Amino acid sequence: MDYISENVVPALELCFLNISMTDLTLQTCDTLTTVRWLARHGLIANKRICDKCPRLMHLQARRGKQVGDGYGWGCSKCNRAKSIRIGSFFEHSRLNLIQIVEILYLWSLERPQVEVSKQTGVSPRCLLNWYNYARGLCARYLLDNPVEMGGPDRTVEIAASKFMERNNRRGKYKPDQWVLGMVERETDVTMMVPVDNRDATTALPVIAKHVRAGTRIVTDRWQDYNALPQQNHGYTFVAPGDCKHSVKDVLDLCKAKFTTMSGTSDANFDSHLQEFVWRRCVKDNFFGNILYWIRHYYDVS
Ligand SMILES: [Zn+2]
Repeated sequence: MDYISENVVPALELCFLNISMTDLTLQTCDTLTTVRWLARHGLIANKRICDKCPRLMHLQARRGKQVGDGYGWGCSKCNRAKSIRIGSFFEHSRLNLIQIVEILYLWSLERPQVEVSKQTGVSPRCLLNWYNYARGLCARYLLDNPVEMGGPDRTVEIAASKFMERNNRRGKYKPDQWVLGMVERETDVTMMVPVDNRDATTALPVIAKHVRAGTRIVTDRWQDYNALPQQNHGYTFVAPGDCKHSVKDVLDLCKAKFTTMSGTSDANFDSHLQEFVWRRCVKDNFFGNILYWIRHYYDVS
């Protein structure tokens, strides 16, 4: 076979990929079907040209360390062999592809790692890495697509909330972590940023990064902001009054996630916030969306 899959779906289709666990299990029931599924979705290369000849390589059942998936690319002329994972998100892992797809699916459903480790038979340490990789994609997405909100005729709600203690790598607890939440009322666009304290002077530069000039900002600390000597971002700070203050609900939602995880290491705190924001950005179909971004960042075409 010169091609693994007869067709490769357009990248955007991944965002709308709505698949049940049962269907996914059926479509990735053994290595070859999984390899085809990944190639069809553009997550591993569908064809490969021999870098020596150059001619199209063939997908072959192979054994050996270099092609640990049971299948690999082989050149009929020079006998060169290549892994099917080259250039893909899966290149540097030795975990089998069926398990990786399953882990990504369960991550997308926010299943706890303890449960997923039992279900997939993957060690907690290895699973932790894969959850970190997935969150790493969310972080990269936010870096490349910075959240911006507000503007004239828009209202952004802002509040700070104290999250549970975070522990550093040596297991020592640090004081509680403040998180500044920003939510655009009209669209629910959300941003969460860890901050040293909830002072207006600390928050304002963070707000300026994500909230456009001319925005009406609703916050229960409006007086503090208005008291700042130089407030030149063109914001209007107002009290929440009787209107709903939904940023607090969003902060509570985010905080609840940290509580169910029983805390997180210092190094991972920010990326958990980024995953939360990413999920708010893409809104639904997290499995299809994470696959879309894997394909975006690991272009194997
Ligand atoms: Zn060759």
